[in-house]
Amino acid sequence: MSTETLEFQAETKRMLDLVVNSIYTNKEIFLRELISNASDALDKLHFESLTNQDILEGNDDYEIFVVPDSDTKTVTISDTGIGMTRDEVISNIGTIAKSGTRAFLDKIRESSDNLNEELIGQFGVGFYSAFIVAEKVELMTRKAGETAAVKWTSEGAGEYTLEDFDKDSRGTTIVLYLKPEFCGGEEFDFTNHYTIETLIKKYSDYIRYPIKMNFETKDKDDNPVIEVKTVNSMQPLWTRNKSDISDEEYEEFFRHQFHEWEKPMEFFHTKAEGTIEYTALLCIPKHAPSNLFFADYEPGLQLYSRHVFVMDKCKDFLPDHFRFVKGLVDSPDLPLNVSREILQQSRDVKKIGRSLEKNILKQLSKLLKNERERYEEFWAQFGKSLKIGVYNNSYDDKVKDDLKDLLLFTTSKDLKLSTLAEYVERMPETQKKIYCATGKDAASIAKLPQLEILRERGIEVIYLIDPVDEFAINALVNYDGKEIQSVNREDFEIDDENAEKKKAELDELSRSYEELLMDVKAAIGESVNEVRLTSRLKSGAVCLVTGANGPSLNMEQTFAPMNNPFFKAHKILELNPNHELFKKLSGIHALDKKSDDFKDFCKLLYAQALLIEGILPDNPVDLANKIADLMAK
Ligand code: ADP
Ligand code: MG
Repeated sequence: MSTETLEFQAETKRMLDLVVNSIYTNKEIFLRELISNASDALDKLHFESLTNQDILEGNDDYEIFVVPDSDTKTVTISDTGIGMTRDEVISNIGTIAKSGTRAFLDKIRESSDNLNEELIGQFGVGFYSAFIVAEKVELMTRKAGETAAVKWTSEGAGEYTLEDFDKDSRGTTIVLYLKPEFCGGEEFDFTNHYTIETLIKKYSDYIRYPIKMNFETKDKDDNPVIEVKTVNSMQPLWTRNKSDISDEEYEEFFRHQFHEWEKPMEFFHTKAEGTIEYTALLCIPKHAPSNLFFADYEPGLQLYSRHVFVMDKCKDFLPDHFRFVKGLVDSPDLPLNVSREILQQSRDVKKIGRSLEKNILKQLSKLLKNERERYEEFWAQFGKSLKIGVYNNSYDDKVKDDLKDLLLFTTSKDLKLSTLAEYVERMPETQKKIYCATGKDAASIAKLPQLEILRERGIEVIYLIDPVDEFAINALVNYDGKEIQSVNREDFEIDDENAEKKKAELDELSRSYEELLMDVKAAIGESVNEVRLTSRLKSGAVCLVTGANGPSLNMEQTFAPMNNPFFKAHKILELNPNHELFKKLSGIHALDKKSDDFKDFCKLLYAQALLIEGILPDNPVDLANKIADLMAK
């Protein structure tokens, strides 16, 4: 059979067109694709040779050669793999029969308008990617174990030619005649050795076969000689046995792979076999990046399929609260031809993700249990992420269950960090609820007037210091069947057998002071929603609490700069009827409830309550003047 000219199948033409005309930035992916095909061909040869040694023709070299050549303006990629027969060339290269590519075309058909370049770039566009950079492609191939070889040539424009060919070595050689802009330009010079070497290291480092290149050096007499070197490291670290890998190797790998400047805090290497097969190598960096919670931080894991790099920053494996985890997943169950959209819907990705998530949770609780100090270091860096996770999943009991025992809070016991379980463990039998209090630091919380009564009874209190602490605690609602109660909320009451009786007494007293309380409210104005008497204060005269539900004072303060009306706290000013100041207040009221003295007194009481909470009153100058007046009297 001599030369024949054939038409590309219509779909193939369209594919070619798309690939060539739609990829603007990821021009270099052609190399990854062609090397991955070469690697597949070597895999196939290896597989065949297991049952038929003859096809090796006495040569068991499995290798890939990449030769950039600036003289001929070509890049040549050859392999000693299985090769193709003439018919196979026609059906594999001229037709679109593969499911991955088909899915790709379907996807394109769906998104009729603007074709997203990233979408195409993320697909393994396969052999056709050669035409992104080449104006002409030659493919010479001989099937292992056969004598006839064939040369396929195309300019990608709709047709290709096939001719008989002589080829000594088995396998496939592909010559890319580069378009002028890809040889010699500053940005893209694929005839440049260094460029090609870098790309191989970047995309194909872990191909299991050697990818070789020629390097020009000088011998001892200064004559130029060609030296052949393997560019890729070949063995992916994660495919090796855990027991054979030293900590240093792991650490070095993470630094190099994820551009970390220091070794990771923790790492884990897991292999799963069963319904889904994957290997994962994950790490927790030593320090949280400063942009961890900002839009420019890109979470996600690297994805490999059969050791071939597929994509960076795949977000679909881990929930957002594990955004700080770095690492990679290598799974033969995931195709190389994937887009981010397809991954998002992939059940395999979900399965792998769930399994990874469980693993991380397990590792963290192990750390917490066995190496408390290291866990606290972790907590200092990434605790916020878990707390936000609890808050963001307020309606997802599963997530809350997963995370609740990993949370740490400072408590009044010794101002050390404690888990909720440890707190509960220390609770005396008579204590039914978990108490917490919010403030800007431990010292100001300790001075909250509401705490006095708890301190007197020796009840331990959880200090919510980090602004997100309160969000997390609120989302939990309960722990271990025990209500979590904030002393900064109106419904705060301590377990007391006389509670009913005391409440009745207070109600009675409140009724008798109804007018006074109304006038106090009127004097202060809109900034406070209610004014009440309280029995929860001992030596304090006033305190400010918020409604049992809804935003707290702390939340209001956190969101104040954003002017978010949703985060307005329902403020209740509580007065201690047993305090001297209250007696004085009712005295002034009785004298003249319309007087400026009464109004000023009320405003000063409210200002005190704000100051106790660490909040500056709206008009500090006004307040200072009133205090001065009072002092001068
Ligand atoms: P995919 O690799 O996803 O199958 P490609 O477009 O990359 O898609 O390749 C199409 C087909 O061409 C491959 O499935 C394979 O059968 C054949 N092929 C490509 N390159 C080679 C090669 N170097 N050696 C043998 N066969 C190859
Ligand atoms: Mg391929």
